[in-house]
Amino acid sequence: MKVITAIKRVVDYNVKVRAKADGSGVDIGNVKMSMNPFDEIATEAATRLKEAGQATEVVAVSCGVAQSQETLRTALAIGADRGILVETAVELQPLAVAKLLKAVIEKEQPQLVILGKQAIDDDAGQTGQLLAALLDWPQATFASAIEIGDGTATVTREVDGGLEVVSLRLPAIVTTDLRPNEPRYVTLPNIMKAKKKPIETLTPEQLDVDPAPRLKTLKVVEPPVRKAGVIVPDVATLLEKLKTEAKVI
Ligand code: AMP
Repeated sequence: MKVITAIKRVVDYNVKVRAKADGSGVDIGNVKMSMNPFDEIATEAATRLKEAGQATEVVAVSCGVAQSQETLRTALAIGADRGILVETAVELQPLAVAKLLKAVIEKEQPQLVILGKQAIDDDAGQTGQLLAALLDWPQATFASAIEIGDGTATVTREVDGGLEVVSLRLPAIVTTDLRPNEPRYVTLPNIMKAKKKPIETLTPEQLDVDPAPRLKTLKVVEPPVRKAGVIVPDVATLLEKLKTEAKVI
């Protein structure tokens, strides 16, 4: 069984992002970029399926600028066998990514595609669902566990108030929540090995996909700065402030 994982290069989760002064977007000049954390979990899940003898090959796919190669190298160091970069400088929105992934999937014919449940930069949470719809494949979103059976995947999903277990016919799309695993620490020997693994580069034109954005960002602003708290000297003052100043937001 071949497994594809979708990998997005995003601003590292430790970086405090800033809006550009003109409000046109987020300033990503000179900030550390990393693999979207949910995609690390997806890659770890796929790698474990391979280690358990249930997957024969794991292919990591990323769409975006040339530097996404570095992010693919991290996926190869976790355990993916090869990478595919769909290279474009166009700002990619979830529908464009889903169309590009669909084209790659039609070429590669995997049985399982694992994505993150959301990218931490745009927080769209759309790509997996759009991809399943475009392919007309079954999907299980927000997975906390994935088990492979004979032509099926049994996926535990995190839903409000508990867990739901669904069975899907393969090929299928799964998006991962935080719980399926803790991605392994990428070791130096594995980084060295990853350098030798192949990365194929394709373009949207080769895949016959127009990646142009459909949505226009009108404005990106930073949240209002929170006022500093005050320390009150005693309980009486606290009660007084609660009565006269505190507001329910
Ligand atoms: P989103 O719908 O943007 O929140 O992203 C959900 C998931 O789709 C991510 O966790 C990735 O697995 C995948 N994805 C989004 N954008 C890309 C991209 N440019 N390249 C590869 N995979 C992506």
